[in-house]
Amino acid sequence: LLVPGANACFILAADGARGVLPPDPRKLSVSDEDAWVVATVIRGPQSGHVRLRRDDAPPGVDIEVERPEAEVAACSIVSDSEPTLAACEDIVGLGDVNFGAMLHSFRLRLEKDRIFTNIGPVLVVMNPYRPVDSCAPSTMLEMAKKTSASTDANDLPPHAHSSVARAYSSMVQGKHGTPQSVLVSGESGAGKTETIKLCMAALANISRSTGSTTEAALESGLLLEAFGNAMTVYNHNSSRFGKWCALLAPFCRAARISSGVIQSYLLEQSRIVSAPSGERNYHIFYYMLAGMPEPLRSQLYLVGCKQVANPSTDKEDNPGKVADAAALSVVADLLGMKQKELEAKLTTKVLKINGPSVFSKRLTRQGSTYTLALSPEQCGDTRDAVARAVYSAVFDHVIKRLNQTLGAGSIAASDRRSIGFLDIFGFENFAFNSFEQLCINFTNERLQAQFTDSLIKRQQEEWKREGVHCAHISFPDNAGQIELLDNSKGGVLALLDEECAVPKGSDEGYVSKMHTAFASNELYCKPRRGKGAALHGGKPGVVTKYDALQFIVHHYAGEVQYTASRWLEKNRGTLHPDLPKLLAGSSRPLLASLFAERAAADETKRATVGASYRSSLRALSQTMAATTQHFIRCIKPNMEQRPDHFNGQVVSRQLRYTGVAAVVEIQRAGYPISYTHASFIGRYRCVAFDKPELLAMAQSDPRQCCAGILEYAQKLAGDSAPKEPWLESLLAQVGATKVWLRAEVLNALEVPRRSV
Ligand code: ATP
Ligand code: MG
Repeated sequence: LLVPGANACFILAADGARGVLPPDPRKLSVSDEDAWVVATVIRGPQSGHVRLRRDDAPPGVDIEVERPEAEVAACSIVSDSEPTLAACEDIVGLGDVNFGAMLHSFRLRLEKDRIFTNIGPVLVVMNPYRPVDSCAPSTMLEMAKKTSASTDANDLPPHAHSSVARAYSSMVQGKHGTPQSVLVSGESGAGKTETIKLCMAALANISRSTGSTTEAALESGLLLEAFGNAMTVYNHNSSRFGKWCALLAPFCRAARISSGVIQSYLLEQSRIVSAPSGERNYHIFYYMLAGMPEPLRSQLYLVGCKQVANPSTDKEDNPGKVADAAALSVVADLLGMKQKELEAKLTTKVLKINGPSVFSKRLTRQGSTYTLALSPEQCGDTRDAVARAVYSAVFDHVIKRLNQTLGAGSIAASDRRSIGFLDIFGFENFAFNSFEQLCINFTNERLQAQFTDSLIKRQQEEWKREGVHCAHISFPDNAGQIELLDNSKGGVLALLDEECAVPKGSDEGYVSKMHTAFASNELYCKPRRGKGAALHGGKPGVVTKYDALQFIVHHYAGEVQYTASRWLEKNRGTLHPDLPKLLAGSSRPLLASLFAERAAADETKRATVGASYRSSLRALSQTMAATTQHFIRCIKPNMEQRPDHFNGQVVSRQLRYTGVAAVVEIQRAGYPISYTHASFIGRYRCVAFDKPELLAMAQSDPRQCCAGILEYAQKLAGDSAPKEPWLESLLAQVGATKVWLRAEVLNALEVPRRSV
């Protein structure tokens, strides 16, 4: 039999026992890919060896392991407990199981389409990559019907519906209408956006009688996906922007949700002009090609489309020109501009200078001004900047219109209850990571900090309120990463701003300053030279210009190597002042209105992209911190977006770095099981059925009654339970409102309860 020890496992005997094996390629021939596999003991130890068969191995292909006391750490018996593991709705309630068994529980549950599992206060969703019954609209409607006003939302099974029901009931019942938030996190492709849709659908079901705002918010999500989602290597429907959507109800008994507000964060703009290889542009372009009525498509020149490569640029000192006059005429018509004027703005720049500091044959003088003919590369940059600016202005316009539809601003901030949903782009680590990935990963750092703060604080504060003594539990903390990235005096983003402000700032200069500033920071590292070429399709080991642009950040979710190519330009994010003016002068009224404000403002005084993003994220963190947070963690079972495939390594990595595994630890090191006094007495009164004088205290002195039941249960259990007095040795505590139990004593209470 495999018996779990403190942190190791001993194989004693008994053929047929099944266990979960940790990765140990040396002894178990378990590859990295499928670490934590399930195996059955075929033959117990003989001469210090045990024979095992992996579940997925063909018959006869067994593996020999030497005496596992020395070789295999943290094995776990699962043979008897497989049904329990599959049925388990809260991992914390499993008691003293190790990581392997927890992982196995997720595996078994996914096989049975049970994609939702609680880990204490956190809902974990395992992406099934195919439709499952529990997410079907009919199932969700059924759940809503069963959830009556009197149902305690804490008793609901793990499901997106239950998390929302809890949030909604706290919002409605809260004396002061505490704002609620549902924070969904997980890496790209883990299922955040789909889960938010389930949450919104659940809210629409719960508040069905209270109007159509929630349905409208749900539908607005689909519209925003068209403009802000795209196919990437990780996800065929990847969100390329962050979204906070709050649904609002005025203070009144009905708590009718009557308006909503959407705030978007950092739409990825580089995709408009070049999508990474194997990826696509925003869905809306493909939708237009596939579904737009023919006359409109012709009007927009969307016929006979084909992908064209950008013309190559040949010398820097030659003026650039428009290569395809037909394309220019199409763009000028669509943008409502004169062709000549557009061409001039794309290929030249007017400078008001006293005299050129550098002579260039591209510079010509007209009276008091000079005209610079842009180089081919500069022309390309201007063209791309116009495309990016137009698309992101349209995206902002869509958000503005959606907010009008949702009635944003119709209830004063001081007079409303709210429930907010956060869906941000997940953590990303590609072969080539740019400024966009840094911002995305920084956002995820902030959200992770929210998660740890809230869960440690919430748990420890509750123990304090309850007067329960508990050892301080350490928790993985990403304060160091936030400091490295966000410190306004010398953090990664602040240094980028500084470099943007110096006259001859450069990407290389920025990275070299970081190498010096963070030389002793263990979360930052300068990569070995010669890695750059390989990333850009060159020969590994060959030093290229990219080497001077690379740095590594150890994020909470893993190490990411960034290449700071064109970061200064991306961070400045400003258009040449002539361009907003040009766009504001468009004969197309919508386009002109989108740029009217920017044309009047001083483009050069705009905050950098990094600075405005940092401040909007800080504001978001403050908004979230003021809410009661409900956490949902999405996990993907494999990296290939495949249904029915559980990769132990991929899942265990996510469980560990997201802090989900640590939530189990904290719950276990403290008190994993708790009941209110009344529910404890209700559940275990049968244990003390022959002690009427004890049960008589249930109303008058519930604390004393609970303590009495615990003492009596220990007496009944005799040697089968821990011998030291439970209450004095803190194996159980009776707090101000709840009874807190450690896993060790649970059995002694449950055995007599079940036998009655
Ligand atoms: P990103 O950070 O890239 O936006 P994400 O976490 O939002 O990723 P989703 O777009 O929600 O990921 O999910 C990716 C894909 O996984 C979905 O398009 C869908 O195919 C599948 N999926 C996610 N959740 C579910 C679910 N509950 N049921 C069925 N399929 C799902
Ligand atoms: Mg998404």
